[in-house]
Amino acid sequence: MWLDTHCHLDAPEFLADIESIIERAKEAGVLGILLPAVRAQDFDLVKEITHRFKKDIPYLVYTLGIHPLYTDRAVDQDLVTLEKAVTESLSDPCFVGIGEIGLDYFVAELDPHRQAFFFNAQLDLAQTLHLPVILHVRRSQDMILKALRQRSISGGIAHAFNGSFQQAQQFIAMGFKLGFGGAATYERALQIRRLVKELPPESIVTETDSPDIPPAWLRDENERRNEPAYLPRIAKVLAQIRGIDDADLRRLVVSNTKQALPRWGQLLAQ
Ligand SMILES: [Zn+2]
Repeated sequence: MWLDTHCHLDAPEFLADIESIIERAKEAGVLGILLPAVRAQDFDLVKEITHRFKKDIPYLVYTLGIHPLYTDRAVDQDLVTLEKAVTESLSDPCFVGIGEIGLDYFVAELDPHRQAFFFNAQLDLAQTLHLPVILHVRRSQDMILKALRQRSISGGIAHAFNGSFQQAQQFIAMGFKLGFGGAATYERALQIRRLVKELPPESIVTETDSPDIPPAWLRDENERRNEPAYLPRIAKVLAQIRGIDDADLRRLVVSNTKQALPRWGQLLAQ
């Protein structure tokens, strides 16, 4: 069984043919997918998609949160909506944490104060409820590490990780796993490939981040949309970089995911 620990199944790009996306993921052996919400308007949709397709993808789960790229359009009230949605979801075994949250200093026009306001409030909620978080970390590793250090957060996943080796080690020391996917399939992605190769085995999880981050072969074919069915092929590249068997990587990822996200772990243990 393969796990895609980060896939935006609710994205508009998937809306027209989501049934075939799910079917291809299932055929590829991707039996677990984590669907992170990005804005309050989508919380109901994210839950609905999860429950609609869990008959096909038995370990389909979701997290709820407000993504940094959506903070300029979010209103303060969305945090109230989030807290309510999260509290209600605690009885739902498919709900596994808070996310996608974080800081993005790559997109210059986003207000950093607004981003920090939403990020800190959501970390506080995760701390209060002892929930893990799914982190979006782009050019913001040190600020995010600082915010984590000021709290007691129960780990989670730093997705599409692209920091230094030292920053990676600091996330790992705080109970985080690091997500790797399509970016590592590019031969020029030397830093990411070095992380994939050298980080401790217990720190790595696989993801597609679809519909984003198309792997190298899709870019060659001029196809922009990524999808969860490509996870095994992406993981094969990761396994090659590490010099291990696909099957070993598969087992490693299941075990690491159980640790990072205990509620997903409970489902995976069934
Ligand atoms: Zn994402």
